[in-house]
Amino acid sequence: MGAPFGTRTVAIYFQSLCSSSAGNCLALWTATSSIFIDCGIKVQRECREMIEAHRRRAGHLDAVIVSHAHGDHMAYGSLRVLGREGIRVLGDGRVVRHLREWHEPQAWKEPPRLEAFPVCHRLDDRRACGHLFEDPRPDRPTFDVGDFRVMPIEVPHAPHVPTFGFAISARDRGTTRHLVFCTDFHDYAGILPYVVDADFVFVEANHDLELLRQHPNHASRYHLNNMKTASLLHHAARQSVMAPGTVMLGHLSEERNRRALALDEVTGMFARQGTKMRFHLDAAPARRPSAVVEI
Ligand SMILES: [Zn+2]
Repeated sequence: MGAPFGTRTVAIYFQSLCSSSAGNCLALWTATSSIFIDCGIKVQRECREMIEAHRRRAGHLDAVIVSHAHGDHMAYGSLRVLGREGIRVLGDGRVVRHLREWHEPQAWKEPPRLEAFPVCHRLDDRRACGHLFEDPRPDRPTFDVGDFRVMPIEVPHAPHVPTFGFAISARDRGTTRHLVFCTDFHDYAGILPYVVDADFVFVEANHDLELLRQHPNHASRYHLNNMKTASLLHHAARQSVMAPGTVMLGHLSEERNRRALALDEVTGMFARQGTKMRFHLDAAPARRPSAVVEI
C-alpha cells in the first residue's frame, strides 16, 4: 500500500486489455498501484499471459475489482489463475457470493482470494481516518486500493445480477483525478452525476438499434445502446465545467455494433445539439489491447 490517500502525486495510466461479450478486462495503474477491473478470460493460458504482459508494463498487479458475476467479466478460468497467483479479487458481497456458488472455488487447492468490498469509508469515517479527499458528488461508501479510491455504484443490468460501475479517484500532480468505468447497464441515470466533470470515462456502447433489429437478442435489453451512450455523454458534457481528456467506448457487441457506428452516434448527437465535443473519443478493440491512455 502507498502513502495515505491524497498525499502523493502520481501519473495514472489506463489500458483496455479486451472488451466484448467474449471477455472484459481493463487495467489501471500508477508507478506503485495496479488494478484490473474485471477479468473475464475463459482460457487459463490466455489469462496468465495477459497478467504477465501487464506485469511487464506496470510492474505488478494488486487486485481485481469485479463489476458483476457474468462469465465475460469473471470466468472460471481467470479465477483459477488469480487463485494460483494469489491476487485479491474484490466484489460486492452479493457478487462474491454468486462467484462462490457458481464456481465453488473453496474446494480448489489454490482458491482465489475472494473478498467483499472492504467498504468502511462513509463520509464521517473518512474524516475520522484523516483522509484529505472530499468528493462533492453524491456520497457513497468507498474503499482504497493503493493509490486508488474506489466508489462502487450499483447500476441496473440483468435481473438478479447485482452489477456495479466504479467512480475511481486518484491524486495526480496536486489535483484529484476522477475516472468512471461502467459497462453492462441499461439506464444511465445513476452513473450520470459521476460522469459530469470526470477526467476519464470508459463506458459501454453495446449495440446499434438497427443491427439489433437485424440480429435480435433478448439479452441486449440489459445493455446500453449507442443512442443512450451518446445521450449520457451529451448530458454530462452539458453539465460539466471541465471536459474529460478521453472517453473510451467499450463492450461493443461484435454482431450488433461497429466501431464507426458507435463513434458516429456520439459525434452526431453533439453535432445535432450544437455542443462542442471537447474530448478525445475512442472505442476499445474487442479482443486485443487498446493504446495506453495517460490520464
Ligand atoms: Zn453482464
